[in-house]
Amino acid sequence: MKTEKLIAVIGKIAAKIEQQKDFLTELDNVIGDGDHGINLARGFGEVVKKLDTLREKEPADVFKSVGMTLVSTVGGASGPLYGTGFMKLGAALKGKEDITLPDFLEAFAAAIEGIKLRGKSDRGEKTMLDAMIPAKEAMEASWQEKGDTKAAFAAGIAAAQEGVEYTKTIAATKGRASYLGKRSIGHQDPGATSFTMMLEIVGGEI
Ligand code: ADP
Ligand code: MG
Repeated sequence: MKTEKLIAVIGKIAAKIEQQKDFLTELDNVIGDGDHGINLARGFGEVVKKLDTLREKEPADVFKSVGMTLVSTVGGASGPLYGTGFMKLGAALKGKEDITLPDFLEAFAAAIEGIKLRGKSDRGEKTMLDAMIPAKEAMEASWQEKGDTKAAFAAGIAAAQEGVEYTKTIAATKGRASYLGKRSIGHQDPGATSFTMMLEIVGGEI
């Protein structure tokens, strides 16, 4: 994927987040403070404003801009976490004009490590990581088996969706939802949900 396509995909992610803003906020209302959709939609609204200035840049610069914009405009935990993730994608992809699936998987792994460090979190804590980590692993396994980009995204999306379902079964131990303890069981995690939406958009554009 080159810069032009990447910019189009990020625009579609922003549109999806805007469209799902109320749903994401509703999910956060139940186990958090009801701002996840509003937070992300505000951030991606700012991201979109900058996309046109990035057309001559390499993909890494686009990811870096997205990350910096999210960190500076999204309130709450998810801004710094998603921001870190996008900035790590940028750092890992530096110098690549056309991102391949193996490139992306390496960068995705770096993004997850960055989010874990920043959030002091890991899988099994009812966060975005419960969609991200299974998605990454499923994409790696699919790529090894089939070497097909579309198939890898399909596998990653299915794993992320399963990850969202899994978040319903566990209690949160990180983020605001952890204040609810066991009462958070039964409800899906907003961040795992928003990540899955993003991956679905990317997969649909591949
Ligand atoms: P806040 O919780 O500050 O209101 P948001 O509502 O925007 O921020 O985002 C909440 C989401 O952030 C959660 O659903 C969860 O997926 C994610 N999250 C919160 N804390 C962490 C953490 N320490 N590590 C990973 N993800 C986290
Ligand atoms: Mg919130």
